[in-house]
Amino acid sequence: MHPVATQALVLHAFDYRESSRIVRLATAELGIVSVIARGTRSPKSKMGSALDLFTGGIAHLRVHPSRDLHSLTGFDATRSRPELAESLARFRAASALAELCLRFGKEDESGRVHDAAVRVFDAIGVADDAQVAALAIAGAWRLIGELGFAPAVEECASCHTLLDGDAAVTFDHRAGGALCANCARQARGGRTIPGEARRTLAAWLAGDEAPLIDDTMARAHRRLLREFVEEHIGDDRPLRAFLAWEEASVIAARDSA
Ligand SMILES: [Zn+2]
Repeated sequence: MHPVATQALVLHAFDYRESSRIVRLATAELGIVSVIARGTRSPKSKMGSALDLFTGGIAHLRVHPSRDLHSLTGFDATRSRPELAESLARFRAASALAELCLRFGKEDESGRVHDAAVRVFDAIGVADDAQVAALAIAGAWRLIGELGFAPAVEECASCHTLLDGDAAVTFDHRAGGALCANCARQARGGRTIPGEARRTLAAWLAGDEAPLIDDTMARAHRRLLREFVEEHIGDDRPLRAFLAWEEASVIAARDSA
């Protein structure tokens, strides 16, 4: 067991036994970790109130090399994010992103998930509700790109022919991205995405400013992102927060129709 102090971000927390909590953190030095925070549910605990969802700070850990659950001995919160709970749009997006970080980034031991999550939470926290979805989807793709799993969007995922022009392309999750017309004919399945959506995705992956997208496009992009993540993580556990985010957007569209 050795002590570590690292920048960390609270992505998930749940009660454990009478007085403790189990918290999942994205950290700058150890990647995603699960920690037990003992005694934090006692009213006298200072640490308990610091461990709100999406809060950033310095986590003091005792790392157990042979175990998946480490001990949290202190948490100095430096940045709470109450603004993410100020609207449902922000909260749902942030929750979906936190889930995506935990599921997609769980093998990552660098600080990339931490840094990407901090960036996107801060962007969402000051955004109008109408911009939240695009910022969140863009942040998710950038995270995927930084972890080295960016889908091919500028060239064919199969034969690497440069994809040019505005034509719609087939996006095949299994092949790892967009396909040229030739390869698309041989592939089974896949989803057709318009040229505009492919260019937006390329801008997001590059971290470039992308044009704002409307609700209909946001729904299509959100579905594409979820399908890609599901294909990649390859288990049958549903992405609950992500699905709730998706469902809320469908209901909102129906109500405004
Ligand atoms: Zn091809």
